[in-house]
Amino acid sequence: MAVTLICPNLKCRTILQVPDGARGKRVRCAKCGKTFLVPGAAPAKKGTQPAEAGK
Ligand SMILES: [Zn+2]
Repeated sequence: MAVTLICPNLKCRTILQVPDGARGKRVRCAKCGKTFLVPGAAPAKKGTQPAEAGK
């Protein structure tokens, strides 16, 4: 599953697709060469908090 991003370079704005494994890593825009960080994975929807587990 790939992650779709838009190049943060306002003069480029190319749509990039990077592998899911690239989350949290730096990628380079193939068009303008700008490097930027791929946002991390979305927060997991878990109702249990480790600190409150078991109550
Ligand atoms: Zn770019």
